[in-house]
Amino acid sequence: MRLWWRKIKTLKVNSMHTVKIIFFAMFLTGCVRINTPVLPVSSAIEHHLVLISSVSPSIHADLRYATTHNFIHRNVYGIADAYLHEDAARALAAVQTELHAQGLGLLIYDAYRPFHVQEILWNALPDERYVSNPAKNRGRHTRGTTVDVTLIGVDGTPLPMPTEFDDFTPKAFRDDMSCLPEQCTHRAQLEAVMIKHGFVPYPFEWWHFDLNHWEKYPVLDIGFSELARGVATAVPVAENSKK
Ligand SMILES: [Zn+2]
Repeated sequence: MRLWWRKIKTLKVNSMHTVKIIFFAMFLTGCVRINTPVLPVSSAIEHHLVLISSVSPSIHADLRYATTHNFIHRNVYGIADAYLHEDAARALAAVQTELHAQGLGLLIYDAYRPFHVQEILWNALPDERYVSNPAKNRGRHTRGTTVDVTLIGVDGTPLPMPTEFDDFTPKAFRDDMSCLPEQCTHRAQLEAVMIKHGFVPYPFEWWHFDLNHWEKYPVLDIGFSELARGVATAVPVAENSKK
C-alpha cells in the first residue's frame, strides 16, 4: 500500500512538473499571453502639409483667422499661411484649373488649423453645427483636409454668395433657398466643382468642404511658425487625448 502511495505521489509530482514545462514552452512560443496593458506609443510622423500656394500659385487667400476679421476678433494663427495635406492641396489645384478655364478662381478663407486653435474656437462658439467639437472628432480643419473657400472673378472680387464667411445663421445652410438667384447659382457652381474633385460639402456652411475620408487623416497641432521653419514631422494628437 505504502509503495503504491509513493508511486502515485511521484506520478503527481512528475505530472505537475510536466505541466509546468508545457506552460513554460507555450509562454516562450507565444501561445500564452500575459495580460499586460499595451500603452499607445505616440511617435512623430510626416505631416504632409504643404503650402497651397506651392501647389497652385493662382489660388487667392484671405486667411481670416490670421487677422482680427473673424468671429472672435483675434489673430489666432499669427502667420497668414494656408496649408493643406498634399492630397487635399492636389484636389484643390484641380478645382482651380477647372475654374480658371471659365475665368473664375478660388479664394481661401481657412485651411489647416492647429488643434489648439480648434479648442479656442470651440470655447468661443460651442455649437457643433459651426465648430467641430475637439472632444469628439478632434476637428476637421485640424487634419489639413478641410478648406473654406469661395469663388472669385478674374479681378479677384468674390462672387455674390448667400452670406458672408462665418455667418452662423440658417442662411448659410446649403439647403436654404432664401438666397437671390445669382447667389444660389454661385453656391451650386462651387459645390459642383468641389464635389467633382473629391470634396464633400458641409450642410451648414456653403464655404466648407472636407476631402473624402477626412476622418482617416491624423489630427495635428503644429503651429504656423514651426511649419514656416520647415518642420516636416509631428506627433499626431491622439484620438483619446484629453489635450
Ligand atoms: Zn470650415
